[in-house]
Amino acid sequence: MHIAIVGAGPSGCYVADALGRKLPGARIDVFDRLPTPFGLVRGGVAPDHQGTKNIARQFERILGKEGVRFLGNIAIGRDLAYAELKEAYDVLVIATGALQDRRLGIPGEDLDAVYGSGRFVAWYNGIPDGRDLDPRLDGKSLAIVGNGNVALDIARLLAKTTEELADSDLCAHARAAFEAAAIEDIWLIGRRGPLEASFTAVELAELGNLSRAAILVDAGQLPPALPGESQDSQGKLVELLRDFAGHGEQREKALRIHFAFNAAPLAIRGEGRARELVLARTRSENGQAIAGGETFSIAADTVISAIGYRSTSFPGLPFDAVRGVVANDRGRVEPGVYTAGWCKRGPQGVVPANRADALAVADLILADLAGREPSAKTGGALIDALLAGRGACRVDLGGWQKINAAEVAAGQGRPREKLVRLEDLLIAAGS
Ligand SMILES: Cc1cc2nc3c(=O)[nH]c(=O)nc-3n(C[C@H](O)[C@H](O)[C@H](O)COP(=O)(O)OP(=O)(O)OC[C@H]3O[C@@H](n4cnc5c(N)ncnc54)[C@H](O)[C@@H]3O)c2cc1C
Repeated sequence: MHIAIVGAGPSGCYVADALGRKLPGARIDVFDRLPTPFGLVRGGVAPDHQGTKNIARQFERILGKEGVRFLGNIAIGRDLAYAELKEAYDVLVIATGALQDRRLGIPGEDLDAVYGSGRFVAWYNGIPDGRDLDPRLDGKSLAIVGNGNVALDIARLLAKTTEELADSDLCAHARAAFEAAAIEDIWLIGRRGPLEASFTAVELAELGNLSRAAILVDAGQLPPALPGESQDSQGKLVELLRDFAGHGEQREKALRIHFAFNAAPLAIRGEGRARELVLARTRSENGQAIAGGETFSIAADTVISAIGYRSTSFPGLPFDAVRGVVANDRGRVEPGVYTAGWCKRGPQGVVPANRADALAVADLILADLAGREPSAKTGGALIDALLAGRGACRVDLGGWQKINAAEVAAGQGRPREKLVRLEDLLIAAGS
């Protein structure tokens, strides 16, 4: 049985593990467009959350199992075509995540100093094709639109001191840019209210521990205290926000993080670059933000939108352009082709949430394969010949391990100093 998995993020690794266990003897090739595996565990999860990144060790063990090959620096749609994978393998699983920022859809979005969180996070996490973003952090006020953990990650990292970032693997170029930044006010903007925010309590509470930042919440924006509210997750959030609302005396600190709930972005204004964010006051009704007509503005020299992501497609792949996911029915895409993870169900859920999804897709594959005659497909043999003919520069698991060793050695007390240029990664891998 020849199986290809496109994407070596959490979903691709979990599917490889499940299929490897259930189909002993299967040959499983896991492709990734980057020379480095683990998807958003390396390129998304905040660099100061090293505990979360430890799961990469488990994924590395999966990629090192007998019968499994990692083929890094091979992008489907660039080095290999979707049709070629279908021809070579009995089973193809698309697990390419969601790389593209959703747009705010407001005037001024294309001004300088306006960034999607996907691009911004890729820049500070050292994804080679995000490395050169060089975001403008030269103004005093920065607005982040979105009320999820990604918005909190960005605010926290910008607010941390050099010492507070010492045990992170924030890349050198981003450390230098954060140190030089002039930011004094960070706004966290939510279209809806605190009860609809999708922060997790642990990440929200972390903001309260930052040495140079005051967390400012207008108590008038919070719902009245309810008996036993801290028992559910939204109640815990509101309790934390109420605690922050009592921190007004800290506003003299060097940096302030303001929460603005029920504020929908209407426009970004400025001469050539962002300077002001225009917002409409909203009220929440049945979980929806309803604008009432009142507008107001805040200074915003940089605007970052953190409102979610879309998947990208490649020629031939059935794609649901409205939802921005691979077109699928519970994971089935077309005969022999399946999908898992964020590109299947949209950009929601933490790393472990992809495991249950991957197991369900693996079960579906096994059910479809039951009773099928062995095919004449040649899997990796055909693909290796195609890649060799195209002069592709492939990184295998050993190559990744060399990159890893070089980065850890360069860390000098930090967890690692990431290589952020494609050519440096390929040289370190020995490719
Ligand atoms: C900024 C951010 C922070 C997060 N923080 C946390 C956290 O702290 N804790 C937590 O549990 N979860 C966190 N998450 C969620 C977690 O990262 C996701 O649940 C998980 O990574 C989704 O896994 P995936 O495999 O579906 O997608 P991804 O992790 O995106 O993996 C997809 C892989 O496919 C590859 N790929 C894409 N296109 C191609 C192609 N054409 N050819 C070959 N390969 C391709 C990509 O390079 C990537 O390696 C965070 C997410 C983001 C965006």
